[in-house]
Amino acid sequence: MNVREYENWIDGGWAKTDRKVERKSPAHGELLARFAQSDENAVNAAIEAARRAFDDRSIWSAIPGAERAKALGRWVDLLIREIDRLALIEAEEVGKPIRFAKAEVEWSIELARYAAALAWQIPGDLVSNIGDANLGLVTREPRGVIGMITPWNFPLVTLFQKLPFALAAGCTVVIKPSELTSGSTLEVARLAKDAGIPDGVINVVTGSGRTVGEMLTGHRKVDMISFTGSTAVGIRIAQRAAEQVKRVGLELGGKAANIVFADADIDAALDGILLGYVLNQGEECVQGTRLLVEDSVADSFLEKLVERSKNIRLGLPTDEKADVGALIHEKHMEQVLSYIQSGIDEGATLLLGGNRVTENGLGKGFYVAPTIFSDVTPEMTIFREEIFGPVLAVTRFTSVDQAIALANDTNYGLGNGVWTKDIDKAIRVSRELRSGTVYVNTFLETAVQLPFGGFKESGIGRENGLDGLLEFTEVKSTFIKLGQRPHALPHTVAN
Ligand code: NAD
Repeated sequence: MNVREYENWIDGGWAKTDRKVERKSPAHGELLARFAQSDENAVNAAIEAARRAFDDRSIWSAIPGAERAKALGRWVDLLIREIDRLALIEAEEVGKPIRFAKAEVEWSIELARYAAALAWQIPGDLVSNIGDANLGLVTREPRGVIGMITPWNFPLVTLFQKLPFALAAGCTVVIKPSELTSGSTLEVARLAKDAGIPDGVINVVTGSGRTVGEMLTGHRKVDMISFTGSTAVGIRIAQRAAEQVKRVGLELGGKAANIVFADADIDAALDGILLGYVLNQGEECVQGTRLLVEDSVADSFLEKLVERSKNIRLGLPTDEKADVGALIHEKHMEQVLSYIQSGIDEGATLLLGGNRVTENGLGKGFYVAPTIFSDVTPEMTIFREEIFGPVLAVTRFTSVDQAIALANDTNYGLGNGVWTKDIDKAIRVSRELRSGTVYVNTFLETAVQLPFGGFKESGIGRENGLDGLLEFTEVKSTFIKLGQRPHALPHTVAN
């Protein structure tokens, strides 16, 4: 197996480092890549490069939006040519099946294509009713140098919900990807140079959160931190940023519920629930990890769900037929198994799975079987905490109000799903759900135009859509005093 060797990407080139971190496959244990373990010098160099590229207005931040849009468009073309390679890197480093990695890369490119178009027309306002001698302008300017810190579960999607939007707005960036999955981020930064995006606009420094992430957050020349990751680290970043009144965008954890009413299209709901709890091995912030099912259909629904779940195929990242891959590392797998144990200890009923899988060549990987618990009550740990594994917690309800109350009984608020053929009920419930996204009769389906983000402890700010671009802008008001009103022409009266 070819080991990929990477350095940091700073100011349009590879910058050598002495120390490296290794990434071994979570699916079979072989060495995949070596990434730079950056020190303070590397982080400073990346921030300086981004600062220069921002402050020299002729490079990127103040050129016509159309020029930025065209450069981003050329980048999209290059990314399309590299889909298979990027997908393989993503599959190997995360441990996810290749066909889902490919879908992830394609979706990331779709986000970039949309963000590029937004660069053509960044909205502003003109205020003209403040007196004849006055004119007001409300303009949006790029926020500056953005520090982006991303997680390992969807390395490219989490990056592309930020990066092309920030670039479209005219910002420059320093990215700190997860130390476990930095490959695809470095690759897309290199491709940006080939597309003609100027040096210094995109910089990538790799390494751990505790060193590189902290340096980026605490640096005075970084204007905003855009972070995706756990709520615990998000809180830490917000606290540090507050010391400098630095802007933060936070995309954090979730504990989504899918509410299935008795009048739902049961077949469609089964597909949605299944996808919702096993996609990406359950390592997903909007994972449908809680199922709330109406009591009158619960028994038959669960019977079918268990049957369908038995057909899920676990496999290596390169297995084209695999549905579910390996968890990210051994410690995380142990944590998922300990959540499963807590479900058993606290009295939930284990309907399926609950174990590590080592058969069929998966013995060297960190695989956990799709797991379903029923009779889950709101005080149980598996109802409350983000497990980040293929574990579904099922709770029954008997009324609409009870379903809404159960769904909202969480500190998180990223996404929820509603399944019913009654449109009035669907709208009422979706209005009362306290989450940034509600899926109706589908799950995890969305469009690039729709903003994404969390209520409550799931985050601050929005990504995607026009809101996703505006997050990377500052609003400026300009009050203009116009010259004296011209004198009226002498009035002549014809005799
Ligand atoms: P994490 O919070 O451990 O790490 C995320 C990133 O932060 C990594 O790059 C890490 O190196 C860095 N980091 C760690 N400590 C830091 C510190 N003190 N200062 C600065 N940076 C630091 O999260 P993870 O384990 O990589 O990812 C899983 C989490 O991400 C889950 O909680 C999941 O819900 C969340 N997530 C949220 C979304 C969303 O859009 N809301 C999307 C994907 C993942």
